[in-house]
Amino acid sequence: MVDHTKNASGGGKPLDAKDSLCLRAPIGGWLCSIADVPDPVFSGRILGDGFAVDPTDATLRAPFSGIVTSLHRAHHAVTLRAEDGAEVLMHIGLDTVALKGDGFTPHVAEGDRVKAGDPLISFDMDVISQLVRSLVVPVVLTNGERFTLAVSGVDREIAAGDEVATIVPQGEATPSKANASEGDAVIVKVRVADPHGIHARPAGLIAEAAKSGAAEVIIRLGDRKASAASPVGLMLLGAQHNDELTIEAKGADGAEIASRIATLLGGPEVPEVSAAASAPEAVASSEPAMPEVAEAPELWGPGVAKTIDGTTASPGLAAGVSVRITSEDFEISEAGADVEQEIKELRAALKTAATDLGAKIAESKGQQAEILTAHLSFVEDPDLRDAAWTMIRDGKSAAYAWKTAIDRQVAALRKLGNPVLAERAADLEDVRRRVLAILLGVSGSATVLPDEAVIFAADLLPSQFADLDLSKVAGIVLAYAGPTAHVSILAASKGIPAVVAAGVGVLCVPDGQPVVLDADRASVRINPPEGDLADIRAAVVRRRERLAANRAATQDDCYMADGKRIEVVANLGGPADVAVALESGAEGCGLMRSEFLFLNRTSAPSEDEQYAQYQAIADGLKGRPLIIRTLDAGADKDVPYANLPKEENPALGLRGVRMSLWQPELLRTQIRAILRVKPYGQTKILLPMIATLADLRDVRKVIDAEMKALGRTAPIEVGIMVEVPSAALISKTLAAEADFLSVGTNDLAQYTLAIDRVNARLAKQLDPFHPAVLRLIQLAAEGARTHGRWVGVCGSLASFPLAAPVLIGLGVTELSATAGSIAEIKAMVRTLDMTKCKAVAEAALALESGEAVRRMLAQSWPEA
Ligand code: PEP
Ligand code: MG
Repeated sequence: MVDHTKNASGGGKPLDAKDSLCLRAPIGGWLCSIADVPDPVFSGRILGDGFAVDPTDATLRAPFSGIVTSLHRAHHAVTLRAEDGAEVLMHIGLDTVALKGDGFTPHVAEGDRVKAGDPLISFDMDVISQLVRSLVVPVVLTNGERFTLAVSGVDREIAAGDEVATIVPQGEATPSKANASEGDAVIVKVRVADPHGIHARPAGLIAEAAKSGAAEVIIRLGDRKASAASPVGLMLLGAQHNDELTIEAKGADGAEIASRIATLLGGPEVPEVSAAASAPEAVASSEPAMPEVAEAPELWGPGVAKTIDGTTASPGLAAGVSVRITSEDFEISEAGADVEQEIKELRAALKTAATDLGAKIAESKGQQAEILTAHLSFVEDPDLRDAAWTMIRDGKSAAYAWKTAIDRQVAALRKLGNPVLAERAADLEDVRRRVLAILLGVSGSATVLPDEAVIFAADLLPSQFADLDLSKVAGIVLAYAGPTAHVSILAASKGIPAVVAAGVGVLCVPDGQPVVLDADRASVRINPPEGDLADIRAAVVRRRERLAANRAATQDDCYMADGKRIEVVANLGGPADVAVALESGAEGCGLMRSEFLFLNRTSAPSEDEQYAQYQAIADGLKGRPLIIRTLDAGADKDVPYANLPKEENPALGLRGVRMSLWQPELLRTQIRAILRVKPYGQTKILLPMIATLADLRDVRKVIDAEMKALGRTAPIEVGIMVEVPSAALISKTLAAEADFLSVGTNDLAQYTLAIDRVNARLAKQLDPFHPAVLRLIQLAAEGARTHGRWVGVCGSLASFPLAAPVLIGLGVTELSATAGSIAEIKAMVRTLDMTKCKAVAEAALALESGEAVRRMLAQSWPEA
């Protein structure tokens, strides 16, 4: 029921409007003009036109019948939407968001339908009035572009329920002085710094920031727009790296929140205040097209021999039997029973899903925790919830409404043509499945698998992956997912061979077919000849035995067959990685990428915060060496609060040590934190992107000064990364003053071959095995040797067991690798002697390409 009235009356001048919505006083007290509210955001009508009440009651009531579209998590503000779409925000007191809910008792939840006069929020007047500067309740029409509000007389005493204003759709309104003003908004333009655009993780962080205070924030890209509070809406913008976005924030905390979001996105460019924030929308993105339903593909007959090619998501070899996993088949009825009951059920299911996810996040670490955090942000997404509430109000069931709300967004994401975002659609589907399973009381997909199952599916949701009995899974083949999809990351972390993006043929493979999965070559053979199958089975068994033996011996220190010591250590990103590294046999840490402590936040970690993390890693390594690289920010590693200038070629600009010397305060703080780590001697400092001797000397000065300031006399070793060709070319000069050298082959290959490491089109040519890169490593090692310094490799080349003979032959004595490859590397090194390594290195340097080097190595070590 809409509380419509013709010719509103009640204490003020009757209004001449057809179909006007009568707005009743939501609270008793003194009715005053919105212009009298002692806050420029309300008095300036930045959020919209309205009125205010200085309350004498302590309960806020619905001013008309409608739906609760948002209830601020601090419970001090609520928005109600009438049946005709008019939306009114009621905000109890000023600066009350800071109370974080203390003193407020909500009587409604989002999605509730309320009648005029129903209680919305009660509050403790005595307590709150002590803590905030004003208890005045501004009542504001937030969609002034569609409706007009007129107040019928102010500066008078009113009781809750009195008719105080009318709202009429635009076009039908009598022109009035009290018409909604367009309102000012803080507008900030920003370019997207993340190389992957706005994907799930940044979208979640932005939404979190948007909801942290009193502001309504929208983000525009061209003619699209999204509410910043909706991670799904943000992903649907399809914003790519370097796209220019406009952040528009209205509200008391608008300026602060806009600036935080700009920082998360990549640093503000053009902050300004404009009065043109509420222009009509060119495109409303809330109703994307329904998903196209793909025809179910026809299955191939049993025994049909086929080969399917895809992309490697997780390397390895498997021989097994095909098992199809199709998407969930929940039986869902479209029609809802009782509206209020359906809303209650969906709300309860969302709450359970959020609680389950929260518990899982607390138990998990690393990428798994990040994936789950993105899922939690989807469960809390206001756009998804709003769409579902609306469908339930239209008579649909809770399950149908939730499924359809998600299906629409999934279809829209897939249509954007952005592979990263298309992969994130699987995360949304996961959230759909999770909530539906709770709603329908269905447990996870516990498909009973045969031994050596090779899973064939269109896609696998992370939760479906988690439900699989991994002891039975030999491999995974997916039609759609990409190599960076979350299921790919999970498969790689569990060492399960996986081929993805293999096309619809995957969906045609019937159950029970013999399969050979060669994930190294991204190839899948269905019904191969019996002889081949037997060979592969034998090879798989040999490989497993070898891996098991390598793992069993991985805790021993690593020596070559001729007795020469080679240290095999791990690359770490933070304290959470230490345990896995040690289990994998790491003899210490050769590269701690400290930038991970600085990413995805709005300000730098403090000295104490950094110190705590570094000390935790040192403690976790139990005396083993720890090499901490100073902040390597810039280019593809964006640290927004460093406020780096926009550069044409950021990879050639202020990055690594250059950025640190440009902003020495960040460096000083970090150096102090590292210098405090005990015991002295365990921890060393590594400097990224050293190109000249001056770079090294300038940082040394900072280190010396901070040592003096801290009163530390015990020396600390300082090494340099060899990532820039110049560093390799002048390694002799650098080694005279550096304590050790560590080659970063990722950047060294980038700068040697002039191929941007984030350019997917050239990714195959960016080959660290290229003889040009190897020559520079040789030069670095020669320079180091002149001064008796050791040389390690911490770039990705060190993680290839096959690279070990070449690198050792070139003079490298430390390999810092990913934890998962350590057992294999150690096993390889133990078979080597220096004479053979030198011969292999010589031969590699003389070859014509990286491909030729790989081929030669694969021929010499076919098992690796
Ligand atoms: C490298 O460049 O090889 C390296 C180890 O540094 P990062 O990959 O962190 O740039
Ligand atoms: Mg590097």
